[in-house]
Amino acid sequence: MTARQRHAVRGTPPWGGATSPLEAFVDLLKTLEWQNDAACRDVGGDAWYPEERMRAPIAKSICEGCPVRTQCLEDALERHDQHGIWGGYSVEERREMQRQRAEVAA
Ligand code: SF4
Repeated sequence: MTARQRHAVRGTPPWGGATSPLEAFVDLLKTLEWQNDAACRDVGGDAWYPEERMRAPIAKSICEGCPVRTQCLEDALERHDQHGIWGGYSVEERREMQRQRAEVAA
């Protein structure tokens, strides 16, 4: 029986399904690996946090060709991020997606 399985039998430790805080940290880093392939990685972040609607299309056009767009969007939805463009979608668009998903799940 692995350490992870032992924890599963005893119950979930405070750091989730990981066997130690270090493993939890490594697990967290692995969940963020997709960011290495982000199309916006070397681009300034201002376009993704537009103060005016006119700048959002710049970010969205870069997101459109991003190889990790799906992961980015799912991450933002999971975190209920309330700012900026993620996965090519604005806050309002993500809220609508979450509303629709909740409706489907109900
Ligand atoms: S989808 Fe857009 S915001 Fe997300 S990683 Fe790609 S370029 Fe960046």
